[in-house]
Amino acid sequence: MSREDLHSLGEFGLIRRIQQQAGTAEHLVKGIGDDCAVQAHADGTDLLTSTDLLIEGVHFRLGWLRMEELGRKAAAVNISDIAAMGGQPKSLFLGVASPAGLDVAELDQLAKGFIAEAGRYGAVLAGGDTCRSPGPLMISVTVQGEVESGRAVCRAGACKGDLLYVSGTLGDSALALSELMAERQPERFLLARHNTPTARVSLGREIVQRQAATAMLDISDGLLADLGHILEECGLGADIELNKLPLSPAFQRALGEGSALIDLALAGGEDYELLLTSPDPLLASVVAAEPGLTGIGVISQQQGIRLHRPDGTLYQCSRGGFDHFS
Ligand code: ADP
Ligand code: MG
Repeated sequence: MSREDLHSLGEFGLIRRIQQQAGTAEHLVKGIGDDCAVQAHADGTDLLTSTDLLIEGVHFRLGWLRMEELGRKAAAVNISDIAAMGGQPKSLFLGVASPAGLDVAELDQLAKGFIAEAGRYGAVLAGGDTCRSPGPLMISVTVQGEVESGRAVCRAGACKGDLLYVSGTLGDSALALSELMAERQPERFLLARHNTPTARVSLGREIVQRQAATAMLDISDGLLADLGHILEECGLGADIELNKLPLSPAFQRALGEGSALIDLALAGGEDYELLLTSPDPLLASVVAAEPGLTGIGVISQQQGIRLHRPDGTLYQCSRGGFDHFS
């Protein structure tokens, strides 16, 4: 495949091509296409597995965060996929391809951050791989977790009339990144949301225990793009109320200066918040785990996503979600 082909195919087109070749297997409850693969165990639990790459120059720049923070982020973004299925993370595997010149003390810090972050969620580093990189620093992370048998919350399953809920706040990480790219120093809160995100494990566990969600995923590529994955699975659409998007005080302050920044909350990416659908209109008020949920809209029959302004007109987001090739 030529480079031009990959550009027009896009990241998800490429994944679909690989998926078609891979086929399915009896031991897989869920293979390619969700936040984790799901494998049934005889003991009443399902094994969840997910893997992620973090490449210097693509996912991070060494000047923008400390190595310890990079280690924390590498663990958290991977564990976020376990949270997205409502699972409990157990074991992590860390692959490091390091440029030969990198300081050993720096790599110690990377491992330290990674192990500490895994420990925050009750998981441990259980293996990995180490080699030299002829180019950038590359990190490969795999996580295994558990969920009660048959209870993993998939991207498929949303129904017409289900309410859309999102955890925490949106756009903080993308706003920090846009500040860094413009060579400005982001507010401390925003920078922390970008460099050291928190996986919403407790919230995901509570959602599973309440059997509250019909579909769920974590927002890594932007709200609209990731909602698109849920809608693709159920063949339905969604109506979102713009004034209900949960925004942090720091994000709101910045929004006051340029209302186009709302697109960062809609499509910016790297929020690592949970997006879920539920028939329960009271879910946000009963859920106990931090950081809580906000109702932002509803699943509807008409395909596509409509963004409603308070005055009744529709808003058009000018950004697409993140795609590695498009
Ligand atoms: P997430 O953003 O939740 O990490 P991705 O968008 O990266 O999910 O991937 C979507 C799905 O495609 C996942 O099920 C993932 O395991 C699968 N996938 C991505 N790349 C590959 C690949 N190269 N080979 C097989 N499966 C892949
Ligand atoms: Mg995910």
